Amino acid sequence: MAAQISTSGERESTKLERLGAHSHIRGLGLDPTTLEPRGNSQGMVGQAKARKAAGVILKMVNDGRIAGRAVLMAGPPSSGKTAIAMGMAQSLGSDVPFTMISASEIFSLEMSKTEALTQAFRRSIGVRIKEESEIIEGEVVEIQIDRSLTGASKTGKITMKTTDMETVYDLGNKMIDALSKEKVIAGDVIVIDKSTGKISKLGRSFTRARDYDAMGADTKFVQCPEGELQVRKEGFLALFAGDTGEIKSELRDQINAKVSDWREEGKAEIVPGVLFIDEVHMLDIECFSFLNRALETELAPIVIMASNRGMTRIRGTKYKSPHGIPIDLLDRALIISTASYQPEDIREILTIRAQEEDVSLAPAALEILTKIGSETSLRYVIQLITLSSLVARRRKAAQVDVPDVRRVYTLFLDEKRSVQFLREQNSLLIGEDGQATGQQG
Ligand code: ATP
Repeated sequence: MAAQISTSGERESTKLERLGAHSHIRGLGLDPTTLEPRGNSQGMVGQAKARKAAGVILKMVNDGRIAGRAVLMAGPPSSGKTAIAMGMAQSLGSDVPFTMISASEIFSLEMSKTEALTQAFRRSIGVRIKEESEIIEGEVVEIQIDRSLTGASKTGKITMKTTDMETVYDLGNKMIDALSKEKVIAGDVIVIDKSTGKISKLGRSFTRARDYDAMGADTKFVQCPEGELQVRKEGFLALFAGDTGEIKSELRDQINAKVSDWREEGKAEIVPGVLFIDEVHMLDIECFSFLNRALETELAPIVIMASNRGMTRIRGTKYKSPHGIPIDLLDRALIISTASYQPEDIREILTIRAQEEDVSLAPAALEILTKIGSETSLRYVIQLITLSSLVARRRKAAQVDVPDVRRVYTLFLDEKRSVQFLREQNSLLIGEDGQATGQQG
């Protein structure tokens, strides 16, 4: 389920984020045959070379032609690196997993850095199951078996509670036998494979990956996160689950062995997906060395890294390197660069964002926002749209006009003015030692 979680989960979160930073992005906006970027399409504007390069990579991923490659998106802040990655995520086939993490998430207290990376890798690999069989997974609400019948003609019904509904299923002979063998009672969480009639009991809270183990050799690996019970048609499933803490390597080996059996029998196919690591300079030298090695394994996704750093120290060392990434990893990466936007692009992106946020901008307001955007950053000026529309609404105007923009521009500083303010006020602010910095001498 993990890949499903990461794929659909990722997409769901973009949906939830309707007004999030990238909610206007619906794809890369490329011509499907030539992969030429269209002027303004799927919420994407400008950054033509980078979008085309991303499109080429996407095509190879969708065709299953590449795996285990590293791609680096390098460019200044607010130049669309994450936007392009979101565009890629939305254009991937529905069963190609896309996982997005920020490098700093790796440094969690619950598991080691390499374990966290391993899990992210495995979440980004899917297994396409070719066999069609229906798997029902859910909590048993009630079991009714017709006790008057015996032998080959037992019948019964089972009521199962799944994600959002209760459904009644007919039970065949095999299933009734399996139910009694497994001693299934109401309240148990079970998996029924309708094609084989096999029933496996998952206990009452099946949340740990190691429980797969107990399910027996023929059972498909289906993860059921706590509180989430699902009916799922088999067809595609995750190679591995996350959110379970550290996972023993023996279990991983078992799963690998199972999947490789399926592949040999022609029952399954590996689908390498995409792992996007934002702010990649936050990884340290151990993580980089792990990445180098992991990219060479058979089950590796495409790893897309993004960084807005220039020459910077590689975390965990005293050496500097471009983007804070060791040269050997850089050397194997395909590098896509993104450049700062020209005013025309900024104007168009602002227009798209205003539509997305249902904000009507007077032409003069759009011009002044464009100018502010060219002098500050795209991200800052996108925020001013929302803020100035609040100001306009307060004065009961249907449209944002220049004074509204001016108002919020003076209320909220951009990065440059904030630095300027710091310089001017330095003596009054508190320094690292808790003293006003002006008193440090
Ligand atoms: P950082 O290095 O600071 O993380 P970034 O390069 O990842 O920045 P984004 O977050 O992608 O920049 O871009 C900033 C904002 O501008 C986002 O809201 C993004 O959706 C939007 N944006 C960037 N580029 C484009 C584009 N080409 N078309 C439409 N919207 C864009």
